[in-house]
Amino acid sequence: MQILLGASAGKGNLILKDYGKNAYTILNRSDQRAYRFSRKKQYGYTGDAQEEFGRLDAAISSGTASEKEKRRQKMMKSGDLLSKPFAEVFDTEAVRFSMPPYAPLARSEACATCGEMTMSTKMVETDDGNRVCIPCSAQTCIKG
Ligand SMILES: [Zn+2]
Repeated sequence: MQILLGASAGKGNLILKDYGKNAYTILNRSDQRAYRFSRKKQYGYTGDAQEEFGRLDAAISSGTASEKEKRRQKMMKSGDLLSKPFAEVFDTEAVRFSMPPYAPLARSEACATCGEMTMSTKMVETDDGNRVCIPCSAQTCIKG
């Protein structure tokens, strides 16, 4: 991830937010822009070792993989990801710069979509100016 971002984001004051869902928002304080990168849903290994990857992946899914196998799978996956064009792996979306560089005391406000109270520092401003929670902004999560 760092390598990919280093290459694409260039210089600037960057803040990386990891929401634990393979989505990253990068804020560039110098030009007041923010970009959101999210991993595309359908990741498929396309490297040379399809068979080995499939076997390791299956072992990991079933919980029988050894630490060594897990490391190997991770290595193959990151190697494969790095070999792909950035746009093939990540959806990039320019978002309005809305988060303060240094979050003050977080207050809560209601999400414009689901109405749930959410820490304001964890909210995302949509293109039409509404402030929504992260799951709503991603629109990929099932409402609980
Ligand atoms: Zn919401």
